[in-house]
Amino acid sequence: MSTPALPVPRPLTAPASFHVLAKPSGPICNLDCSYCFFLSKEALYPGDRFRMSDDVLAAYVRQVVESETSPEVTVAWQGGEPTLMGIDFFRRAVELAEAAARPGQRLLHTIQTNGTLLTDEWCAFLAEHRFLVGLSVDGPAPLHDVYRVDKKGAATFDRVRRAWDLLTAHGVDTNVLCTVNAANQHAPLEVYRFFRDDLGARHLQFIPIVERVNDTGFQEGDTVTDRSVDPVAWGAFLTAIFDEWIVRDVGTVFVRAFDDALAAWVGVPGGSCIVAETCGNALALEHNGDLYSCDHFVEPAHLVGNIMQTHLVELVASPRQRAFGDAKRDTLPRYCRECPVRFACNGECPKNRFVTTPDGEPGLNYLCAGYRSFLTHVDGPMRLMAGLLAEGRFADEVMGVLRTAPRNEPCPCGSGRKAKHCHAA
Ligand code: SF4
Ligand code: SF4
Repeated sequence: MSTPALPVPRPLTAPASFHVLAKPSGPICNLDCSYCFFLSKEALYPGDRFRMSDDVLAAYVRQVVESETSPEVTVAWQGGEPTLMGIDFFRRAVELAEAAARPGQRLLHTIQTNGTLLTDEWCAFLAEHRFLVGLSVDGPAPLHDVYRVDKKGAATFDRVRRAWDLLTAHGVDTNVLCTVNAANQHAPLEVYRFFRDDLGARHLQFIPIVERVNDTGFQEGDTVTDRSVDPVAWGAFLTAIFDEWIVRDVGTVFVRAFDDALAAWVGVPGGSCIVAETCGNALALEHNGDLYSCDHFVEPAHLVGNIMQTHLVELVASPRQRAFGDAKRDTLPRYCRECPVRFACNGECPKNRFVTTPDGEPGLNYLCAGYRSFLTHVDGPMRLMAGLLAEGRFADEVMGVLRTAPRNEPCPCGSGRKAKHCHAA
């Protein structure tokens, strides 16, 4: 089957780099996590088997590799549960990417998984091709198992723990992806220390669960389910972990929200679209080649096109997709535009903007209270780290600065409290 060729010249509105999350098995998963927004997406393709064909696989891999202008290209997979496709599907994906790569172009393969289907063979394959694996774990068993259950409602922690151990034994680079929800939101240190001390994880990403009540599974409605994280608790969760991290783990444990914040205080673009001023460069590819504006907007109103008819880079560069990304900035309510921590938040993800500001303007982020309080709290330490970096020193020196401050002097973090009541050892 012939598929679209790379447009020459490259569309002027195409970003130099963009990211596509491909869902080879669509929303299909072997688990049934209570809060999972993907499962409702089955209704989008009634009667479909949800398996990416060889043609779509070949088109996606070729188009994503040839669209990338930087020396490193990411081929990313998620679901649903992508390992349901079987290991041979991913062997073909790797072969196709290697065949398409230009001389000197590095390939980074990533996969997000619940881990329950991983075996020694899988892990050897992931290690051989240096996959970066995102493993979903919501904390120790009593917290993880509240919502992360299989189709029979049975707990999954033991299977996920086994996957972590297998991945570690094979030396696979693995990040922990932890959703923060009503069950674990009040246990930040229990969750953090479990990842750091029990698992030995070094890269953590905390994802707030904001699940709106509706019948469609789309981003509509303005009330949330009782599984969703509370906005104030979300801020307190990040703050509690930050306060432990800033005096003992800087440079050894990497937390995405803290990396994003430091990037904002240093004045360089962060890694996450959610805190960027505009977005639109992180799209989602369905099993049949349909491309959506974002993984959180896999719904008919945000279908950009199909890569079997139009090249990926043309779809990413399309006025429709650029408008989607610019709307993140252009629809910010005045309350955000005048917010002192806007530079580090930017109103966060549009999917969560469904409440009104104190003066009644729509479009405020449901999580605002949490972000405001967390980002205000970290201002002092972030300034210290940004200052160290500006002097050519290392950000982790902040730990010594805070711990060894004279105990009866004001804490250098700027809290206004005496050091002995703040960060001093
Ligand atoms: S809608 Fe949210 S998750 Fe999607 S690209 Fe924009 S900021 Fe990122
Ligand atoms: S903290 Fe709240 S007001 Fe400030 S930018 Fe973020 S969402 Fe807007």
